[in-house]
Amino acid sequence: MKINDVVKAEEGEIFDIELDENILKANAELAQQNRELLRKQGVKAIDVMGSIGAGKTSLIEKMVQKLKTHYRIAVFKGDLTTTIDAEIIGKHGVNVVAINTGKECHLDANLVQKALRRLDLEATDLLFIENVGNLICPAEFPLGSEKRIVVISVTEGPYMVVKHPFIFMDADVAVINKIDLAEAMGVDIAKLQNDVKKINPKTKTVTTNCRTGKGVDQVIAALNL
Ligand code: MG
Ligand code: ZN
Repeated sequence: MKINDVVKAEEGEIFDIELDENILKANAELAQQNRELLRKQGVKAIDVMGSIGAGKTSLIEKMVQKLKTHYRIAVFKGDLTTTIDAEIIGKHGVNVVAINTGKECHLDANLVQKALRRLDLEATDLLFIENVGNLICPAEFPLGSEKRIVVISVTEGPYMVVKHPFIFMDADVAVINKIDLAEAMGVDIAKLQNDVKKINPKTKTVTTNCRTGKGVDQVIAALNL
């Protein structure tokens, strides 16, 4: 079947509060405050973004296991209403603050600022911030972190990167997870890596199987940790 036409949303036409310029500006200011606070306290903060089920929590768990003897780690875990992931990560003996956004489909700098107040920053070297599962609006809401990771999995199909260019533009590291399933899914990993490079040549791509831990050392190296 052939596509007859494409309806395109014009600037200002979308009925979505997230596109309100004032909100984005306020968020950017709060993100800057967070960034300055974290820098002053010597905390390295890393965002982890990706769709629901891509493997964000598994990646954080594996990095926490490998890094917790070198850094004093804390994790902010964004979710709508649950603390399931926060509890999973907390089992590794690091400080976890759950951030429940209610109906909001992304974290924002205000929520992160509130969470920062609940953390002993003097006793923290490294902070992972797991966003709500979403590849769209987190791109517009910087949180004040130093680096951003985007996790995608091969089970999401071959077009995850090209369909979500904005989230990859700002990503320092793109993690392609569940590579053990690539063949079964018929997904070409080299093509996904190339899609990332086309959007941002500076983004490092790493392939992982976060269930077994394969590739996690390379993610850590890509983050210079
Ligand atoms: Mg998760
Ligand atoms: Zn959102």
